[in-house]
Amino acid sequence: MKRKRQILIVDDLKLNRASFAAILGGKFEVLEAENGKIALEMLVKHKETIAAVILDLMMPVMDGFEFLEHYKNMREYQDIPVIVATTSDELENERKCLALGAWDFIPKTFHPDIIRFRVMNAVQKSKVRTLEFDPMTGIYNQQKFFQATREMLDEAEDEKYAFIRFDVDRFKMINSLYGPEEGGRLIHRIGQAVAETVRENGGGTYGRISGDIFCMCIPYNGKKEVGALTDKIREKVRRKNMQYYLETSAGIYIIEDPDTEINQIYDNASIAAEQCKGQHMVHKVFYSREMSDRLMREQMIINEMDAALEAEEFVVYFQPKYELEKMSPHGAEALVRWQKPDGTLIPPNEFIPVFEKNGFIVKLDYYVWEKVCRFIRKELDAGRDLAPISVNVSRVNLYNPKFLETIIDLVETYKIPAKYLHLEITESVFSEDATIIQNAVNYLHRAGFTILMDDFGSGYSSLNVLKDVNLDVLKIDMKFFSRGASEEKAKKIVEAVIRMAESLNMPVIAEGVEEKNQVEFLCGLGCDYIQGYYFAKPMPQIQYQRLLYGQ
Ligand code: C2E
Ligand code: CA
Ligand code: CA
Repeated sequence: MKRKRQILIVDDLKLNRASFAAILGGKFEVLEAENGKIALEMLVKHKETIAAVILDLMMPVMDGFEFLEHYKNMREYQDIPVIVATTSDELENERKCLALGAWDFIPKTFHPDIIRFRVMNAVQKSKVRTLEFDPMTGIYNQQKFFQATREMLDEAEDEKYAFIRFDVDRFKMINSLYGPEEGGRLIHRIGQAVAETVRENGGGTYGRISGDIFCMCIPYNGKKEVGALTDKIREKVRRKNMQYYLETSAGIYIIEDPDTEINQIYDNASIAAEQCKGQHMVHKVFYSREMSDRLMREQMIINEMDAALEAEEFVVYFQPKYELEKMSPHGAEALVRWQKPDGTLIPPNEFIPVFEKNGFIVKLDYYVWEKVCRFIRKELDAGRDLAPISVNVSRVNLYNPKFLETIIDLVETYKIPAKYLHLEITESVFSEDATIIQNAVNYLHRAGFTILMDDFGSGYSSLNVLKDVNLDVLKIDMKFFSRGASEEKAKKIVEAVIRMAESLNMPVIAEGVEEKNQVEFLCGLGCDYIQGYYFAKPMPQIQYQRLLYGQ
């Protein structure tokens, strides 16, 4: 059976309360309060079941106006209609009440039909309004928030606005670790923090979009202010939480053109928020045009990648490595480029990170390895003495269960002794899952491959890696050879690294060497190989063959 909803009658005169009760008692269960203070307490207690409030204005302790003042500030109660009962039609009182959020008026003439009609009307309207609020937090839901924001922007004259998207990192994890009740409490707390902070700040719209995502649209008074407001919400949400570590992200979009669609505004704030994820200590990011441009470029790359691979638009370049003792080329690194049909050459830094994210790198790496195997096969068939070619192995491949089998199959298919194909694995991979990687490395060693540690010194655990994983060759990261303020320091580090590698019996390749004095410096230290523009840039296969054998 459905429970009867309640009507709260607030009036200091018992007789008045009784009269309303007689009229409405058939439809509602009647609650009575003799002043505003008691009424507020009842409102809080019976929030879920009160369908409407009938309010007298003149009462002791707390009058109707004061009650309305409180009611106005209690967002989550505003779908409960308050109908003011008046004795005379005092216009000024009505105006005041409306400004405080009263829904309607009824005369205290106790004309039953009119009273019933007005109350039912208000209750009906409140049902529609309930659909606009998020039940968990009492603030606007997405639809209503978007609508209210649209209206606010439409009415804005010269005012500029900022739009903030706020959420909790790994909320689903919190939900599953601490239970949905805790998740719910957290959501409620964020709702409160958002509502409170925006109100204190001088207003704006706010709402819960879905899950742990909240948005606000507030008057814009400079980046510093928006940033401070965002930080404040973050602090409030985190302060009350001592139980577990909580991180938040915020994306901020400053609305340049108030006619922009709200969906677009929201997307831009989301793009900015996305930049926080995975970035340590970054809790808020302002949107910039470049972010969208980059996403667009990424999308284009994704749209075209399959067809490009099919059409062999990816080409392999070779960058020779020079043996310092003889000052002559010894092997090369294979580096991929994307050659568009119109001739433009896209550098790998533009597409490799995208492919690493979506997994396509597994296919592309294989494609490059196969091209290199074919090249090696051709050279061997021609009876030429060949130095090893190194290929890059993406981190994604190391987690690919088929990787080891695939690469071994490949060299077997082309009948290439494993010593001709060197594998470069970037240093940072080794700090991820040590055992998986170490096992892979051991397996590759048993299959006869030589493994180069690429970009040595670029990460934070380089030395640990050297200790824990058995690698064959060390490639010193390019950044040690870039010009800049710390050049002298870099030289000292390079010197130490080369000495250390020597004592570990690891040959060293210095990468990114562009200048003569660097070459001389490295020669002096006994560095084994140099790969850098000073000697040669990456070049097409034909040119590489020419370099090795002349015309
Ligand atoms: P990496 O493996 O560290 O490759 C060395 C990069 O340094 C190459 O850039 C090379 O052209 C550049 N370089 C070499 N010497 C110099 C120099 O003296 N000065 C300067 N400024 N640069 C120099 P590239 O070809 O643009 O490749 C960039 C990165 O893309 C590579 O860094 C590698 O991480 C990735 N990559 C390239 N090809 C492949 C591939 O087939 N598979 C995978 N997984 N990654 C690849
Ligand atoms: Ca490399
Ligand atoms: Ca490198």
